[in-house]
Amino acid sequence: MHPTINHLIQLQELTLIRAEQRAHKQEHRLDELDASITSLTTQLPADIQVLVSRMQKRDTLIIVPMSNGTCTGCGMKLPTSHIQQVRVSNDLQVCPICTRILYYQEGPPRNISRSPTRTEPRKAGIARFSSPQLMNSRLKAATRDDAIREMALQMQVAGFIDDAEKLVNAALQREAMASTALDHGLAFPHVRGVEGGGLTLGLGISAKGIKFDGRDKTLTRIIFFIVIPTAASVFYLKLLAGLAETFSDAEARKLLLAEEEPEKLWKALCKLTKKTIA
Ligand SMILES: [Zn+2]
Repeated sequence: MHPTINHLIQLQELTLIRAEQRAHKQEHRLDELDASITSLTTQLPADIQVLVSRMQKRDTLIIVPMSNGTCTGCGMKLPTSHIQQVRVSNDLQVCPICTRILYYQEGPPRNISRSPTRTEPRKAGIARFSSPQLMNSRLKAATRDDAIREMALQMQVAGFIDDAEKLVNAALQREAMASTALDHGLAFPHVRGVEGGGLTLGLGISAKGIKFDGRDKTLTRIIFFIVIPTAASVFYLKLLAGLAETFSDAEARKLLLAEEEPEKLWKALCKLTKKTIA
């Protein structure tokens, strides 16, 4: 593997976190992120810095994992010799179609949900990304890590992902980079690079509230746990903006918090996001 791959993955993650904060209108957090992005960028070798800045002008995603021999950025099936190169070569490898830098990921968690058949009616709004089975109207967890674990397990039990524990580890790594807790008691823990299915969202409600961000005293009560295939990374930002818009409204949050049964929570979520999530 090229020595800068991990560095580039981290840099891209920070750029995406920055875009998430903008989607959430959390402008006060941007300075800190900008400083980290600049510091990581200047640590790169000069030729890679040039390459990165050229790629970033065109695209948010500059580096993507290979999954099942396919580029997760554009879906191109790679030739066998190229797959081998991505796995073993010390040179940077790029996708021949979308020209993004490719890397090999050792055993990431996978989405194993069944994709809808052509004869099934097309779902609309939030129902495209979630289901009543992914609603948890009374989380038992009392800590951030346990809440993430509880929601990841629910996704595994409902048949959406193959390995909850891998997902938990990845979600906690993401929290360590920057907390996903926001104002109004909302949090959006998530994992990118979960391939094999579509973007998938679970919703958990904590009646007591959970301390999600170590630096903040506000308790988190509404948790959206989201797994994102690489290709949906940019779409995810739109979804975030939609959810943030809906739930910046106190009345909307009150309606979610009032539902004690998963089925009713699902109905409330669908109704509330009807206008903000297409
Ligand atoms: Zn590609």
